Amino acid sequence: MLEELFPALESTPLLRLATTMFASSSDAMMITDRANRIVAVNAAFTRLTGYSPDDVRGRDPRLLKSLATPAETFTAMWQGLQTDGSWTGEIWDKAKDGTIYPKLLNIAVVRDANGEVEHYLASFNDLTQRREDAERLAYLTQHDPLTRLLNRAAMEIQLQQALTRAQRDHGQLAVLLIDLDRFKTINDTLGHQIGDGLLIAVAQRLRDCLRASDVISRLGGDEFVVILPDLENAMSVTGIASKLKRGLEDRYPVGAHTLYTTPSMGIAMYPIDGDTTETLLRNADMAMYHAKSQGRNNFQFFAEGMNIAANERMRLEDGMRRALESTHLGSNEFHLNFQPQLHLGTGRIVGIEALARWTHPELGPISPVKFIPVAEETGLIQPLGDWVFWESCRQLRSFKDQGITDIRIAVNLSAQQLRHESLPSVVHGAMACYDLAPSEIELEITESVAMQNPAATIAILEQLSDMGIVLAIDDFGTGYSSLAYLKHLPIHRLKLDRAFVKDIETDRDDAAICSATIVLGHNLGLDLVAEGVETEGQRDYLQRLGCDVLQGFLYSRPLSADALVPFLKNWLADHPVDASGPRTR
Ligand code: C2E
Ligand code: MG
Ligand code: MG
Repeated sequence: MLEELFPALESTPLLRLATTMFASSSDAMMITDRANRIVAVNAAFTRLTGYSPDDVRGRDPRLLKSLATPAETFTAMWQGLQTDGSWTGEIWDKAKDGTIYPKLLNIAVVRDANGEVEHYLASFNDLTQRREDAERLAYLTQHDPLTRLLNRAAMEIQLQQALTRAQRDHGQLAVLLIDLDRFKTINDTLGHQIGDGLLIAVAQRLRDCLRASDVISRLGGDEFVVILPDLENAMSVTGIASKLKRGLEDRYPVGAHTLYTTPSMGIAMYPIDGDTTETLLRNADMAMYHAKSQGRNNFQFFAEGMNIAANERMRLEDGMRRALESTHLGSNEFHLNFQPQLHLGTGRIVGIEALARWTHPELGPISPVKFIPVAEETGLIQPLGDWVFWESCRQLRSFKDQGITDIRIAVNLSAQQLRHESLPSVVHGAMACYDLAPSEIELEITESVAMQNPAATIAILEQLSDMGIVLAIDDFGTGYSSLAYLKHLPIHRLKLDRAFVKDIETDRDDAAICSATIVLGHNLGLDLVAEGVETEGQRDYLQRLGCDVLQGFLYSRPLSADALVPFLKNWLADHPVDASGPRTR
């Protein structure tokens, strides 16, 4: 091939040498002319790229290019060739069969006697194998070969990185040290192979219970360390620890055996329990021994104060689980209250908001501000939310049967409910069961929920809106959403948060926010609802701003189902709707 390129050279020893080197080199080689057209390639080139000499002759080497190489690399390449006459670097190319592979490329410029570019000589080899070897080696040095979890050294590096992030962001993180109870007995009596099988199964349970962003590692033996970075609040650790406890204490089928083991867990938190990897690991270890001494199969925080708070939370969680399980059996720990919404234009009560209430058998009434977050963290919001929706529909049917007409019921939805694919069918099922029209149902989602994962949120909201359900944004003004973004959501109402309504008469900023929101909301075709209206002053102010609907203690506190019906009937008697024009109260 080289002979064709240099006919003038004929068969000199030098050309024979060059030809042999070119043909037999294990590196792929490619020669291009001054216009960068391919003039010769060797056999290694064909093996690596899949292109024969005939495929590529006369073409631009760009045909080898994949999109995976950053544009800057090519810029650097041409600059190197111009200034140094050669360039070496890594680029990603595409073989004829479409495979994308990394290669180490060297290009040299060949100039003629006058210094003009004559050829470019490129040689390269495939880095895939070397990459894979390096990755395999890195994997082996970072992982426990048995469970494939991170090993201690890798975990300590991750913990250090998480600590640095938490320090920078003023965040919190938790280190959980988990020791399996009775593991030694299992290992000693059934043998190492069964013991290993159990450890592998435990590692899998840990993965199943945790998020991908959590760090899971095995220290050795039957000890595991979990790092929970970016914690929203200290108490959510309790939820995760109790989930791990439930997940790990379940039976393990290993070989022909069914094994049982339970975890003893110690928890240390940054910043309260320490700010270095060593202190956190040591304190988690001490807390783990405390858990062992408390009778195993439990978790303990290093800081004693946290244990008290965690116990209270566990009581709420256990209580809620129990109450929800027996809700179907007629337990009435949960019930709904209803707060009326007044339409200022007509003076009519046009809606009621359903608000969940829980009376714990020992702890008494518990505010939804307290139990809804626990329900969200434990996943119990799913059954609770379903119950709230069905119960709201059941009650609305009962109000209608008692002669209350033209009223809509608003139900609060949490983020998780909105993301669950069963939502439209729950809504549809309950409406059909109680023979309600979609326009009689309103769903409230908070502003922050509407802002999460916008594409998915819009899709599900559109599905609900297409069904004819009325959608409202709750607690508006507390998040960061812009009205411009809201324009893309298929919503019908905005509920101004009561924090703004509270000082509307005295705080100029709050008044300005309310006023601007009402104007802009109206321009977007939305109805405006003000929450937490307590005084006549607030009412008058909101009325002047053109607010459509008011809700708050001024009209009524949330009422039980039994109290609501007489309230609504009395309201209608006291405020007959005047056909000659809208009236307000
Ligand atoms: P929210 O949806 O913004 O509900 C309005 C809250 O404001 C209710 O508190 C209500 O009692 C209170 N409120 C109404 N008028 C006034 C007033 O004039 N002044 C004052 N100071 N407060 C007033 P509640 O019932 O304690 O509910 C608190 C939050 O709990 C609700 O806020 C809602 O986010 C959540 N929640 C309640 N029930 C449910 C439910 O079934 N599911 C979900 N996901 N969340 C719920
Ligand atoms: Mg609400
Ligand atoms: Mg609200």
